[in-house]
Amino acid sequence: MKTAILGAGISGLALARFLIEGGLAKGDVSLFEAAPAIGGLCASKTVDGFTYDVTGGHILYSKDLAAMNWIKACAGGERAFVKRNRNTKIRFADRWVHYPFENGLGDLPQQANFDCLKGYVTAWHRRQVDGSAAPAAFDAWVRWRFGEGIARHFMDPYNEKVWKRPLAQLSSDWVAGRVPDAPVDDVLRSSIGIRTEGYTHQASFFYPSHGGFQAITDGIGASVLERVRLSTPVRDLVRGASGWRVNGEEFDRVVSTLALTDLPGIVKHMPRAPAEAMAALEYNSITCLLVALDRAEHPDLSWIYLPHAEQGPTNRVTYMSNYAPGLAPVGKSSLLCEVTHPGGQPYPGAELEREVIEGLEAAGVLQAREVLFTDRTSTRHAYVVFDHGYGARRRTALEWLETVEITPLGRFGRFEYDNSDQCVIKARELAGRLLAQARAG
Ligand SMILES: Cc1cc2nc3c(=O)[nH]c(=O)nc-3n(C[C@H](O)[C@H](O)[C@H](O)COP(=O)(O)OP(=O)(O)OC[C@H]3O[C@@H](n4cnc5c(N)ncnc54)[C@H](O)[C@@H]3O)c2cc1C
Repeated sequence: MKTAILGAGISGLALARFLIEGGLAKGDVSLFEAAPAIGGLCASKTVDGFTYDVTGGHILYSKDLAAMNWIKACAGGERAFVKRNRNTKIRFADRWVHYPFENGLGDLPQQANFDCLKGYVTAWHRRQVDGSAAPAAFDAWVRWRFGEGIARHFMDPYNEKVWKRPLAQLSSDWVAGRVPDAPVDDVLRSSIGIRTEGYTHQASFFYPSHGGFQAITDGIGASVLERVRLSTPVRDLVRGASGWRVNGEEFDRVVSTLALTDLPGIVKHMPRAPAEAMAALEYNSITCLLVALDRAEHPDLSWIYLPHAEQGPTNRVTYMSNYAPGLAPVGKSSLLCEVTHPGGQPYPGAELEREVIEGLEAAGVLQAREVLFTDRTSTRHAYVVFDHGYGARRRTALEWLETVEITPLGRFGRFEYDNSDQCVIKARELAGRLLAQARAG
């Protein structure tokens, strides 16, 4: 069964490995990768001794222990990873606010604390009285769930920075299970200064000891590397007699991790309805700026959120050199700043570096004179945007792919908010199905 896997990010690499480990002949698996290296969104880059994850700071964490252990084993075993305690904060003017925000109200200035507590309790009480269902629009959901104060002081400005759209255009579907749900007692405690922890399921995480997060995809890819055709973009997919031709070559089966939005330009003779649905799926791009610092020490932080406009265009800063020894030269340190922009639109201009550094200086995160240099990487597909048309468009796209037997996989292959562990879990499930089919057929 000649199988083409389109894309050698973690999804494509994991699938290839599961298929081969499950008994498929190695020579029957081919991966097509447009970039000159494997890794996709998990890639890292080293510049003058500073290593950073090119699509924002990545951490390894999974509720699926088997998947996490498999990832670790592929990348050198337990000893090839360091374990870190997550220490995340929100920078609010000159204060550090405990994360999640509603568990940190006592860290706020008094008026903001009052606004947030009043709003939270009012929203909570209203839900108890009217039993209302979660609103469909994200901005209304924020008020329904957290109240007016948290919306105004944190959720609105932060989410506007990340999503770059009016929040009414977003649906609330994606927040279920992602935005922590604090009990009202915890919020009352936090407001008067009794420390409460939200979001405890991710209290610690793992990170490769060497080479950045890319060590994970390098490890998964090591045993299938000879099957990866690097610098080979898939330009056309044409239906053959009993499979698909990929760039003119026949395959029995195609698994695509390419972004759904790109498929109408690649799959020949795609009918109008799925082509329009795919092209209309919305996403955000990201530009990540490494800031190399002539400073040995960092506060002991994992990452911070910068919700306010005065803090510059960055929404999240990873304290990159805290993740593992060797990510910065001895006596130096690094920050990794994430700036999002609407997908398909031009990347932020030459002013980005200045705006980011001025914003971080205004936020009290660094001093401009400490900056040694910056390095930036832009990634077109970074975030799936859950607008109100997302569900219907995605369904149309996936249903059509199923009818023509192109199997979608991966974060943008299926247009899902998946982290790398979920990509591995889904690759494992798909490999199980494909191997069973191969055995049966
Ligand atoms: C800001 C940010 C932070 C994140 N943080 C974390 C985190 O902390 N922990 C975590 O586990 N996950 C995190 N993730 C998610 C994680 O990066 C992704 O889930 C995962 O890397 C997706 O892998 P993939 O293989 O599905 O897709 P991709 O990595 O996008 O792989 C697709 C591959 O296809 C290739 N390709 C594209 N077009 C073509 C073409 N025409 N022909 C051939 N090849 C092509 C691409 O070059 C790419 O290599 C984060 C993501 C973002 C954006």
